[in-house]
Amino acid sequence: MTLPNRQSLAPNAENAITILTERAKECDAQDSLASLISEFSLPKDCIYLDGNSLGPLPIRAKQRAKEVVEQQWGEDLITSWNKHKWIDLPYKVGSKIAPLLRCESSQVIACDSISVNLTKVLCAALSMQQRTSPQRNLVISQRDNFPTDLYMVQGLGELLGAARCELLSVEQDAIYEVIETHGQQTAVLMLTHVNFRSGLVHDMRAITKAAHSKGILVVWDLAHSAGTLELALDECEVDFAVGCTYKYLNGGPGAPAFVYAAKRHWPHIQQPLSGWMGHKRPFDFCHDYQAGEGMASFLVGTPPVVSMSVLDAALDVFDGISSAKLRAKAQSLTQFFYEAFCALMPNTEFLMVSPQDASIRGSQLALAHPEAYAICQALIANNVIADFRAPNILRLGFSPLFLSHQDLLHAALRLKEIMDKKSYMDKVFQTKQAVT
Ligand SMILES: *Cc1c(COP(=O)(O)O)cnc(C)c1O
Repeated sequence: MTLPNRQSLAPNAENAITILTERAKECDAQDSLASLISEFSLPKDCIYLDGNSLGPLPIRAKQRAKEVVEQQWGEDLITSWNKHKWIDLPYKVGSKIAPLLRCESSQVIACDSISVNLTKVLCAALSMQQRTSPQRNLVISQRDNFPTDLYMVQGLGELLGAARCELLSVEQDAIYEVIETHGQQTAVLMLTHVNFRSGLVHDMRAITKAAHSKGILVVWDLAHSAGTLELALDECEVDFAVGCTYKYLNGGPGAPAFVYAAKRHWPHIQQPLSGWMGHKRPFDFCHDYQAGEGMASFLVGTPPVVSMSVLDAALDVFDGISSAKLRAKAQSLTQFFYEAFCALMPNTEFLMVSPQDASIRGSQLALAHPEAYAICQALIANNVIADFRAPNILRLGFSPLFLSHQDLLHAALRLKEIMDKKSYMDKVFQTKQAVT
């Protein structure tokens, strides 16, 4: 990586670079997670600010992929279900995720996608409420929640009818108010802990408490939290949670998601996707469904063994690392980039959409600009990988496992150069591709 030609910079920018370089070096010297970079297979010279969309490849995961395909599938064939304990993978993987959520480990299981798992927990929560408070039909959520979360509630509303399930989506600052005003009609509050665009973090403990005071069950989506934020699901008395593993957990594209259900609810859980893997004794092949105990009842069909094995290996990178430590590093990275951005681009045309207060900001920054898509493409062409979120957000993710503060200074300087030269105006950067 080469820095921009210093002669082209204003003297105050040059000064800022000197100060930032020193700070980056100091922060990196104190970083107790710095050695984890060696766990990853990343392309040379690539500054990867998209671990919040697709985590990079852990070397252990690559080795396991080879082993599970060549040895387990290739040589041991169907005996692997027992010999390599494929059948236990959903539980084993769940118990590796649990410490990152700070919860008792039997309450987490890996399966399906967030969308499918949301359907299961929403149905379980709705039917629990139906039995005791049939007047509760509302599912409260946030207008700018991730679309799939809202779509799943809309689909359930179609299936069950509005008298059983009706979505009420409100603005982020109206959540406490709607809990007060609609508490008695509400079955479920479903929120994403970290907003996927802005990175704003909800106060899980306070919101869960407010909802419980009105008899509402709470479902948290942890897509942008697990592996990078400090969580405490048991302490916060969360009812249900879901999350994916291909973002900060580095499980690979389309890796299975996870479900958390508080143990106190287990005896009351019923969910309609009553597949054979969730049966009490799947290999009895009996006629009638009988739900398995505890988290087993969230399983539906045959687990994707290759993907689940890769995820299992990827999670070993987190072994012995607390979520508090991950949060501290991610927060330091995000704050450093934020400060570098402000110092290097004082007259920026970007609008910072993420909170300024680091304590309520996840491991990402959202920068709004009418040319955000092209700017993102120009960054990628300069080996800084970020992503674009419609309509106008350049989104930068700061995974705590493989980035250094010095990487982020380089990334900020690249961005400055692209903005100063307006190189994003080049038409090669202006054409939209299928996946953004
Ligand atoms: C990434 C993400 C999802 C993805 O859902 P899948 O069904 O696993 O594809 C869901 N919710 C949020 C908040 C996300 O950020």
